[in-house]
Amino acid sequence: MTAAGRSRLLALIPYDTAVTMADLGRLSGLSRPTLADMLHRLQAEGAVLCEPAVASGGRGRPAQRWRRRPPQGMFAALAFSRDSVRVRVASSDDRVFAEREARVNVALDVRGALDAGRRLLHECLAEADSATDSLTNLTLGLPCPIGDGGQPQPRGFLPDWVGFRPVEWLRDWLPDIRISVENDANLAAVGELVEGAGQGCRDLVYVKLAPGVGSALVVGGRLYRGAAGYAGEIGHVQINEMGHPCVCGARGCLAMELYIAARHGTGGKGGLLALTELFRRCDAGDTAAGRVLGRIGGQMGEQLGALANMLDPERIVISTADVPPHPALLAGIQDGIHRTALPPVGDLPVIPSPLGIRAEPLGGIALARGTYLTSPGNL
Ligand SMILES: [Zn+2]
Repeated sequence: MTAAGRSRLLALIPYDTAVTMADLGRLSGLSRPTLADMLHRLQAEGAVLCEPAVASGGRGRPAQRWRRRPPQGMFAALAFSRDSVRVRVASSDDRVFAEREARVNVALDVRGALDAGRRLLHECLAEADSATDSLTNLTLGLPCPIGDGGQPQPRGFLPDWVGFRPVEWLRDWLPDIRISVENDANLAAVGELVEGAGQGCRDLVYVKLAPGVGSALVVGGRLYRGAAGYAGEIGHVQINEMGHPCVCGARGCLAMELYIAARHGTGGKGGLLALTELFRRCDAGDTAAGRVLGRIGGQMGEQLGALANMLDPERIVISTADVPPHPALLAGIQDGIHRTALPPVGDLPVIPSPLGIRAEPLGGIALARGTYLTSPGNL
């Protein structure tokens, strides 16, 4: 068994639910004899547990089930968004946990952002009465695409992070723990699956409008990253070929057009501030603000409708980070979906995120624990 084969198989075995050898065969593509041999070796070294077979009442021998042995110790999530960092540490059973957050200009100040992350992690560990050597797994969340092998692709998204290697920085400081890197929207989607609007859901689209547009796809109960790690970049679909230049190098991308529309709607305030301001004005009875929200939602919804035609998800979860999404925005999104999706697909529920940006550290902890698995092609 090679080291790569070992970690590839281990990543397919959850900590908290047991899977059969048939499940693992399907996910890994390995033959039954090869799998049996690898599983017994992993069992011998204590990395996996074999649960006794339970007769199902059907014919044939009942199947043995396998799960990962939970690591003892603490898990951590270091979740960066464009303008803040959130840190959470938790024990394997979640009985002990702590969470902190700080505002910092993540995109333009990599050192400041990482220093804030380190300080908050120390504070969380102190509150949980733990030390850094009790950490076993850490998930780093970043608001940029994460390419093959967990390499962040910050160009155009996080200017000050270009050429910087955050995992190496963490390894210098935390040499003995397993570190994985994940896109911020992917973290949040997992958080929603664990504790939010995605509970019990196997096919989900998650959208974060704040201050850019990020999305994440959950297909068949698994986070889907795509071949190069760029799956879900709906914000960079061109909706206006004569539109404004975008950070990605293209022109008229959905994210940029929504940003400009929100800015115009408030007379100059940009990004998330504009959206929050539009929510406030709409609640105060400003019909013009309501129309802007409806138009922004409609443009977003038209793209989501096209995506829904492809994926046929059970539901779409919308987050506007620190504030709940306004009903006028959600109604616009639903209208846009109806314009572009087939009738049965377009009737899917569009649900406001109950967790907001807190979904990100929660998802980071779930991924650090191995509760939610990544796509088999991206291990
Ligand atoms: Zn773009």
